[in-house]
Amino acid sequence: MKTPQNKPETRKTPNKPHSEALGDRFWEKKPLAEMNEAEWEALCDGCGACCLIQLEDEDTGERVFTKVACTLLDIGTCKCKDYENRFEKVPGCSKVTLDLLKTADWLPPTCAYRRLYDGKPLYWWHPLISGDPATVKEAGVSIKGWARSEDNVHPDEIEEKYLAPNLFKRFEG
Ligand code: SF4
Ligand code: SF4
Repeated sequence: MKTPQNKPETRKTPNKPHSEALGDRFWEKKPLAEMNEAEWEALCDGCGACCLIQLEDEDTGERVFTKVACTLLDIGTCKCKDYENRFEKVPGCSKVTLDLLKTADWLPPTCAYRRLYDGKPLYWWHPLISGDPATVKEAGVSIKGWARSEDNVHPDEIEEKYLAPNLFKRFEG
């Protein structure tokens, strides 16, 4: 049986203009451990996927994404509505850190933090590459617009109606 798990957070700084303060293609030159705060923040593509509720099989530990997002996520912008107080308001929200990446199997395979941690390059649609936050949506990675807030979904209906096991299948492997 699967039980709702209010999944983790992200560094919600998407769509923030990145600029000269960031070194040229810094993510290819610096390991994560050496990045400064601005660089670390800029890695978040703002997809919002880590703010989706995931269900975990109690027996196998297998996780599956749902189409239901955290109560604090603004579905239209993919930004946290109370970033400053998110940890107090959503106990399951956790900050993406280098330590957390060691065990963050709940992050989608598209997540820039996870990819760099695994030694993989960023995708073409990452705003740092494309220069345009809109490419995250164009690539079908952003949850903007189609996810539903948990405020509007009864918990009992999540497993029945809102599972999205194939959400990131094409990016796996
Ligand atoms: S999944 Fe990764 S890239 Fe996407 S919003 Fe979360 S932290 Fe940012
Ligand atoms: S509290 Fe904010 S950052 Fe954390 S999971 Fe919810 S929407 Fe995402």
